[in-house]
Amino acid sequence: MADDSCDIFISGGGVAGLAAAAVFGAAGLSVTVADPAPPVTDAGSDGADLRTTAFLRPARDLLVEAGLWARLEADATPLKVMRIVDAGGARTVPRVSRDFDAATIGEPAFGWNLPNWLLRRELAARLDELPGVDFRPGVGFRGLLARDDAALVTLSDGARLRARLVVGADGRDSPVREASGIGVRRVRYGQKAVVFAVTHSRPHDGVSTEVHRDGGPFTLVPLPDRDGLPCSSVVWMVRGPEAARLMALGEAAFAAEATDRSAGALGPLTPVGRRQAWPIVSQMANALTARRVALVAEAAHVVPPIGAQGLNMSLEDVSTLRDLALARPEGLGEREMLDAYARRRHPEIAARLAGVDLLNRASMAGAPPLTALRAAGLAALHDVRPVRQALMRLGLGALGRR
Ligand SMILES: Cc1cc2nc3c(=O)[nH]c(=O)nc-3n(C[C@H](O)[C@H](O)[C@H](O)COP(=O)(O)OP(=O)(O)OC[C@H]3O[C@@H](n4cnc5c(N)ncnc54)[C@H](O)[C@@H]3O)c2cc1C
Repeated sequence: MADDSCDIFISGGGVAGLAAAAVFGAAGLSVTVADPAPPVTDAGSDGADLRTTAFLRPARDLLVEAGLWARLEADATPLKVMRIVDAGGARTVPRVSRDFDAATIGEPAFGWNLPNWLLRRELAARLDELPGVDFRPGVGFRGLLARDDAALVTLSDGARLRARLVVGADGRDSPVREASGIGVRRVRYGQKAVVFAVTHSRPHDGVSTEVHRDGGPFTLVPLPDRDGLPCSSVVWMVRGPEAARLMALGEAAFAAEATDRSAGALGPLTPVGRRQAWPIVSQMANALTARRVALVAEAAHVVPPIGAQGLNMSLEDVSTLRDLALARPEGLGEREMLDAYARRRHPEIAARLAGVDLLNRASMAGAPPLTALRAAGLAALHDVRPVRQALMRLGLGALGRR
């Protein structure tokens, strides 16, 4: 017998799982969300996630609907222009630089950038306001018995729950995915993303800059001023051994290398705070659903951090599930709903994975003929107006149909 019951059980209280709980809770569904690791909600604490997330417009709209945006807006930095620079020549200087300006397609911004630790803080606070949401930090998913009418979930503290739908939002090694017998296809690039924040004397003016040379892109994403100076977050993708070398450098040497690799985009860079290294893979679950189970976010798909796709795709998973749940509440978690979820999400996820994989491989290239091809390709894609505009709309509409 179950101790408790709910409409939806979410395994995983990362950014995606917490956001899913807020979205489902705001839609009037009863939700239990569990995570063995309580959220770390300030930048200075051990285990804080120092990445930032650029939310594209459809994701921002979903945060508005879930009552989250009002909490986040003041800390969100708008990204008005995406500047792509190829610096793949003999020296690290721009050879080709092109701006994709949101204003040219009538949008105020491409996206809004927010620190992940702050997202966790505000997401957890929002869950406290939602009477239908039961957040259990410090407790993990342990087992699942899926039946035709509901799933029986066992938690690490021995509690048992009956849920009509189980959402696996428990990360790239998802225990729910494993318990459902779903495998994954994983591509390893031998790359890591070194993540840190920098201040700089030159203002960023809302421009997000991606500099390509070899090993992967070096991306500067605007943040609010820090200590009275313009500030950006950096994602620097490099091959594994290079990441280890960069992580071990002293402050001054690291600052000098970061400035050089940025091709002078914002003048001298001064790293502030800690550095983190994140492994880069591309991964897709062999199925998005099993009986009474739907996988979302990194449990379903992982992409390299290029073009701000990862969490944005995850929020589209969540909004698709919410829309299907509300369209036919009596069918929550049934085969028909789960099939509809897979039909809507699978082609979109597969296409995004293939696109980001291609961009990553192009960015990793260091051989002169390949980098010359990349520079020419960038100019060609930008300089033909309809192609440029179509690409920008594709980027903005990463969450497609909303
Ligand atoms: C360097 C970098 C930069 C990025 N930048 C962007 C960006 O700008 N825009 C964007 O859209 N995306 C971005 N992404 C992707 C984004 O950060 C991820 O998609 C997102 O953080 C992953 O969220 P998640 O909740 O799926 O996984 P996770 O954060 O891994 O969360 C999974 C949770 O599941 C929990 N868990 C594990 N086991 C259990 C269990 N037994 N029971 C319950 N819970 C369990 C874990 O404790 C964890 O809290 C970036 C990624 C990287 C690496």
